[in-house]
Amino acid sequence: MQRETLSRRSVVALTTGCMASGLGAATVGGTLEDDAEDGDDADTGATEADLSRDSFSIMAGTTHETTVYVIDAPVDGPTAVVVGGIHGNEVAGYEAAGDINGWQIDAGTLVVIPEAHAVAVEQGTRSGDDWSDLNRQFPESEAPESDLAAAIWDVLVEYDADVVVDLHESTGIYAGDPVDGVGQAIFHGDSPTEVETAAAAAEFATDQYVDDPALEFETGPFSGPSTEPSGLLVHKATRDLGADSYLVETLSTDVPLETRVQWHLAITEQLVADAVFGSEPDNGHAPDVDGETAAADESDDTPDAEDDEDDEADENVADAPDETPVAEIRTDPDGAADLALEAGQTVTLDATCSTAPAGEIVYYQWDVGATAVFDESGETLEVTAGTNGRDTIVLRVVDDADRTATTSITLSTD
Ligand SMILES: [Zn+2]
Repeated sequence: MQRETLSRRSVVALTTGCMASGLGAATVGGTLEDDAEDGDDADTGATEADLSRDSFSIMAGTTHETTVYVIDAPVDGPTAVVVGGIHGNEVAGYEAAGDINGWQIDAGTLVVIPEAHAVAVEQGTRSGDDWSDLNRQFPESEAPESDLAAAIWDVLVEYDADVVVDLHESTGIYAGDPVDGVGQAIFHGDSPTEVETAAAAAEFATDQYVDDPALEFETGPFSGPSTEPSGLLVHKATRDLGADSYLVETLSTDVPLETRVQWHLAITEQLVADAVFGSEPDNGHAPDVDGETAAADESDDTPDAEDDEDDEADENVADAPDETPVAEIRTDPDGAADLALEAGQTVTLDATCSTAPAGEIVYYQWDVGATAVFDESGETLEVTAGTNGRDTIVLRVVDDADRTATTSITLSTD
């Protein structure tokens, strides 16, 4: 099935890593997860192979079509659902969710909806053209108020969510009154577990990733026993499903995107740890945007201290270990990145020339449009050139020791 994204984004250009000059083909290396330290997983090749990864669309055939990712561990356990992009202008939330769908888990099921409100994400706006605020359409004890809200809710019900994490951003900081802003806060339901887990996650993120006291993470209730139904997804999830539910808000003003994404990753990892990572939160599960594990960074620097660049595609990791795989994209027609493609022309991207010096590549993931969502997989990918503009497709390869590398290609019809 041709991805809706392609026509919507008018994909036009591809670039090549291994055939062409390599211009613009940055390679970023690191480990997705340090399994060797988990003890229960000494065979580093087993984890990815044992996981079941699936995806499907909701609202298929409509402008609201979006992808749901389901990662199943071989060990039974609870289900955690992570949602991003309910508000399309809260970029760090959906970028983090797009990364989380590549996480490996130890037990249970992880369901990720990176771009819940695809139209709003595409537009970069809080709401879509024809919808009011999506996060006001989940009334307690009543049916969701739009088809999209109903489709999202159905996913939570279908998978019987035990933990729900909804990722957002705010232009202001929460200081007890949501009117002033809700950034740098984790809002939670009213059970003791939710209160304690949110507090622990806020403390962890603050300790590990915040230098400025003004940016310390706080917690607060999004609904108390007497709170009127507000239509929040998390409110409905905690009340109607009994799921431990959290709404994470980072500050989007004057903070690099990379830092905000790291905050979301670190907090989400803590919030879902008991469900899908076993009993002890292990920060090795939260890759930062360079693809390196946060646990590997033992400095006290915030992630942005060394690198303020938002454009991760331009980053190079000079000290990447020798065993890091190399992601490469070839194209048919040859050198498509350097061509002015015809609108409607099919280009095949071939990742089989990628290499893994210390093992073999077991997973090929594609992010069409450089949206930070790897929503295609396979050794090759067909894309259709659009009628105008340029677009970038990112390839991520994962080897049998969970080491990753990415590269990208940009296609153009002009
Ligand atoms: Zn929001």
